[in-house]
Amino acid sequence: MNLKDYITVVQDWPSEGIQFKDITTLMDNGKAFKYAVDQIVDYAKEKEIDIIVGPEARGFIIGCPVAYSMEVGFAPVRKEGKLPRETIKADYGLEYGKDVLTIHKDAIKPGQRVLITDDLLATGGTIEATIKLVEELGGIVVGCAFLVELTYLNGREKLEQYDLVALMQY
Ligand code: 5GP
Repeated sequence: MNLKDYITVVQDWPSEGIQFKDITTLMDNGKAFKYAVDQIVDYAKEKEIDIIVGPEARGFIIGCPVAYSMEVGFAPVRKEGKLPRETIKADYGLEYGKDVLTIHKDAIKPGQRVLITDDLLATGGTIEATIKLVEELGGIVVGCAFLVELTYLNGREKLEQYDLVALMQY
């Protein structure tokens, strides 16, 4: 199956000059979505992971079905003010803007092997901040999995000491 057939490239969204990769046309096709999730499960099986961590909102869409399939937990990383209990936070620079990400302080136990998931790797800022949160809690990032990698934004260089997989490259 060629997963790129299910991605819709939207010109000039959310702003002029951006070619947004819309994954909703992959998600709404049951066979394509399952195929993509299964590929990430295969990758994760080699890593002996304890828990999956994904940033809101599209990191949940990828991470939760993988966690369900592997019978491991999922811990959400969210924008500031969204998690109800004690959190730690990390700043990050987006492809378009700046923000703060948070995680519950007890979401990861020291020494746990963590897989990080998101829909798309662009500059790597979101994942860098997510890694920072996981490591601050004593987690070991054993892999990062994405549907899509925008290779021209060089996120992979920023994360060179980590193992990354992306199912599609643009
Ligand atoms: P980064 O932090 O790597 O620069 O940006 C990646 C984050 O921005 C991801 O969480 C992703 O959901 C979002 N993002 C940036 N560009 C795109 C895009 O073209 N398509 C989608 N689906 N998400 C994007």
